[in-house]
Amino acid sequence: MNLDVLFGKTREHLTCLEGTEHLLHRDMLQDFLRLREDARKAGFELSIASAFRGYERQEIIWNAKATGQRQLLDEKAVPLVFELMSPIEIAFAILRWSAVPGGSRHHWGTDVDVFDRRTQGQEDVKLVPSEVTAGGPAAPLHDWLDERIKASKAYGFFRPYETDRGGVAPERWHLSYAPLSQSFLEAYTFAAFWKNISDSELVLKNVLLQSAEEIYQRFMLNVDHP
Ligand SMILES: [Zn+2]
Repeated sequence: MNLDVLFGKTREHLTCLEGTEHLLHRDMLQDFLRLREDARKAGFELSIASAFRGYERQEIIWNAKATGQRQLLDEKAVPLVFELMSPIEIAFAILRWSAVPGGSRHHWGTDVDVFDRRTQGQEDVKLVPSEVTAGGPAAPLHDWLDERIKASKAYGFFRPYETDRGGVAPERWHLSYAPLSQSFLEAYTFAAFWKNISDSELVLKNVLLQSAEEIYQRFMLNVDHP
């Protein structure tokens, strides 16, 4: 597989979702539209908050957090004091909530963050747990999605960040298209992960290289499977 696809450095595999600016893997589009149509019949407006994100976008997020320009949060989403943290602590605090550039599933075009436009405007969506758990505006949509996933009627979509496995924090809003993303993950070897970091100019690059094995295991491989 072309590493540029895995690292978010090309858009050649993507297509635009009509009426939006969101880019999706072109081989996923039809099944996403099927799921959206089923959701519509069930009374929901399944909408995308974020689909493909390129390397540059992820790099901006990473470097802003790694230099203290953007707030870091602990496990419970409580703000951390940047000045009191070691480089390794900073790196792991970022990884809990944001992928290392080149290592985000959003680079693949196979993963989307969704919400229910029937109950929430795009500009109000923050993608926080309170939106997707009991009483939240997207909770009924996600309960419906759970039923569909359980009944194998979600056209291959599943939740890679459903449970807290000690890596990426649970993200109920994040769906992944297994027919593509499972093979992307298989292609994403440790050698690929290492190359991505070592070829980069990222802030905290040396820390990432020192802990590369652990980061790869904990934040890339350690996800829920369909
Ligand atoms: Zn996501």
